[in-house]
Amino acid sequence: MEKVKKTVMKKDLKIYDTEKGKKKLFESLSPGYVRMYCCGPTVYDYLHIGNFRGAVFFNFVRNWLEFLGYKVDYVYNFTDIDDKILNRSKEESLSPQKLAEKYILEFKKDYQNLKLKSPTHHPRATQTLKEIIRLIEKLIKKNKAYEVDGNVFYSISSFKEYGQLSNRNTEELLSETRVENEPGKKNPLDFALWKKTKKKETWYFESPWGKGRPGWHIECTAMIHKFLGEEIDIHGGGSDLIFPHHENEIAQSSGLTGKKYVRFWMHNNMIVTEGNKMSKSLGNMISMRSFLKNYPAELFKFLILSCHYRSPLQFSKKTLEQALVSLLKLYSSFVEADKIKKSTQKLLANGTSKNLKTFKQKLQSAKQDIQEAFNDDFATPKAFAVFFSLFHLFKKEIQDKHNPSKIQIAQEYLSFFKRYGKPLSLFQENPSLFFKTLEDKFLEQKDIKRKQIDQIVQERNLARQKKNFKKSDALRKQLDLWNIEVKDTSEGSEWHLRLSKFIDL
Ligand SMILES: [Zn+2]
Repeated sequence: MEKVKKTVMKKDLKIYDTEKGKKKLFESLSPGYVRMYCCGPTVYDYLHIGNFRGAVFFNFVRNWLEFLGYKVDYVYNFTDIDDKILNRSKEESLSPQKLAEKYILEFKKDYQNLKLKSPTHHPRATQTLKEIIRLIEKLIKKNKAYEVDGNVFYSISSFKEYGQLSNRNTEELLSETRVENEPGKKNPLDFALWKKTKKKETWYFESPWGKGRPGWHIECTAMIHKFLGEEIDIHGGGSDLIFPHHENEIAQSSGLTGKKYVRFWMHNNMIVTEGNKMSKSLGNMISMRSFLKNYPAELFKFLILSCHYRSPLQFSKKTLEQALVSLLKLYSSFVEADKIKKSTQKLLANGTSKNLKTFKQKLQSAKQDIQEAFNDDFATPKAFAVFFSLFHLFKKEIQDKHNPSKIQIAQEYLSFFKRYGKPLSLFQENPSLFFKTLEDKFLEQKDIKRKQIDQIVQERNLARQKKNFKKSDALRKQLDLWNIEVKDTSEGSEWHLRLSKFIDL
């Protein structure tokens, strides 16, 4: 039964292809197997959160394809040859290789802390040099590229389809782009496949054209050919890579092989702050490392996926607060469900009560809705709406005093979120631990110790007993300033953090 359903769903997957400018039914080159590549980061510093929108989103794409039953080879590269690496290596007094190695490790730490699934391959440009050189040689042989004094350029006039991805002709591209003025180029839009080493530069690689370095575009094509072949199903990246990077990749690959390079071009939009793209040059970036120091990984993933990947994502105190409030609602319901599940209360019915039956039916249609949303070009906001309608339903069910099936309902509720949260890499945390970790992070952020709070609460209670209300009020105000709320119950005073107030950007 399950198998039949999965095949049906697989056929229904639609993906927006940048090249066609519309959603297309997804079909892989080889049945049941997907070749997928995503442009990874240039590793010369800690990566900022803008770099991770793609990492989080394409992790979901890969997981969803696997959920549908595909075997996926997912390649996510590291650009470890670049001018930025060279410049930074001088600042940090490390060799370019050592510097790249350092930031690859730092990137992997962030990736792991985000609990994303490791790609199948993580190739690096420095480990693909043989293939890069061979590819350039073939392009020269086919008159697609030419050498001028140790530099090799791709000749865009040899590739008539140039501009097909950005849907613009060469004149338009030329008027809209700032092209590098490199001596020897036949056409201003021609781009470098191999760059000759500049005088006094000590970082270079040997090639048939002398000492130099490969161009960025050829690195990705070489890695794709090496790990996935000349034709692939999905090529992902940020929308800022459409031109010239991906346009040039097509020219390199299809120009050489005559084959369709990529069946589906997928581009995620940018993270913006007050309308500007988050980038190093604008100075409005936050590193993933510092974000994760202050906030949980779950919050970042939740924020990213609550927005459709083709829309710009507003990153601000407000949007982060909204995401946190929503996430806290869901996790509190998981804590509640966990408590009910563990409660020793006797079951009043044998799992066939009317409540349970209706709840299961609702879950069934929610399952359908979520699958449809994911299959509709990864429409995560639609799926999130389904998650929240279930949340409200669950709250209603457990408030019903006469509901005999609360335990089963709690169980069903929890396993639903586990199952459909998994492709998103969300909702897999232990709920109580999630709150504990969150509180610890927030207290640490403000440099407040739990012991300190306990002590103030105790002092306040003592003052109250002694009817010293002036003092007890002052202590309460102190806690209030820290966004700590005290509740007085018959068993004593409890305190908790107003978690949504801890967003501090
Ligand atoms: Zn690339």
